[in-house]
Amino acid sequence: MTLFALQTKIASVMHVADIPDADFETKQLLCAVLGLDTTSYLLSRFDTVRDADVKEALSLANRRAAGEPLQYLIGSWTFLDETFFVGPGVLIPRPETEMLTLKCEAFLNKREAPVVYDLCAGSGCIGLSLAKRCQNARVYLVERYDDALCYLRKNVDKIADPARMSIVQGDVLLAAQAFSSLPLADLIVSNPPYIPTSELPTLQREVQKEPQTALNGGEDGLLFYRCFAEKWRAALKPDGMFAFECGEGQGQAIAALFAQYDMTSEIQFDLQGLDRFVFVRRSRKEHA
Ligand code: GLN
Repeated sequence: MTLFALQTKIASVMHVADIPDADFETKQLLCAVLGLDTTSYLLSRFDTVRDADVKEALSLANRRAAGEPLQYLIGSWTFLDETFFVGPGVLIPRPETEMLTLKCEAFLNKREAPVVYDLCAGSGCIGLSLAKRCQNARVYLVERYDDALCYLRKNVDKIADPARMSIVQGDVLLAAQAFSSLPLADLIVSNPPYIPTSELPTLQREVQKEPQTALNGGEDGLLFYRCFAEKWRAALKPDGMFAFECGEGQGQAIAALFAQYDMTSEIQFDLQGLDRFVFVRRSRKEHA
């Protein structure tokens, strides 16, 4: 079968299953199975595909049609300019998190040898991208779950300079004291679980295949931010900053949690105009 015929067949499996962006996903799936980049994919359209690859591609297309996320089937996904290993047990990196990471990069580039914690690191997409882009940064990746840690370790080996990276296994909800051996941070960044527990069953079927532990933000979705305000603010340098991703409509509530400790928040919006990022710093009189 030619690649073109296989592409037509797979796209139709995906269209029948109402997969949004079926044509894009078809191309991604075939590039992954055949080990092709976009250009060689286009140039190989009339080449014959080996039977084993046809079988593999059709099997993955059927699993995709049944609701498994494309990223888990492929086993990797691009975030900024790097490919991260992903699979069941780790949150799939999202484009809005790329925006958060770029904003953090701009902050870090103004500082000398900054210390960064990425809390709830998952695949490590935020912390590892910062380590790669900010040559003087020292980055600590904190992650609790073994299933996520196995991807995190692989990504660290692939992407970062080991001398500037540390993986710390632990539960960020326990207390920052558990991590007291770490130097004070210039930046604490996190894309924590922020979906209110009651909303989990309403999520898209693909998102439901992602780990609940990476999504469930407790009763009001704010469990982790509350803990960051109470227990992690002491881990920041006086002029350090928290940078968070959050869910739609959560910005003001997060700002209020930190205002209790005299910390000031700036809420920023994503490309759809929804509140999506919160940057928190000590109010000015406190750093003096
Ligand atoms: N830091 C990872 C990401 O942004 C994982 C976040 C999480 O598991 N909540 O994709």
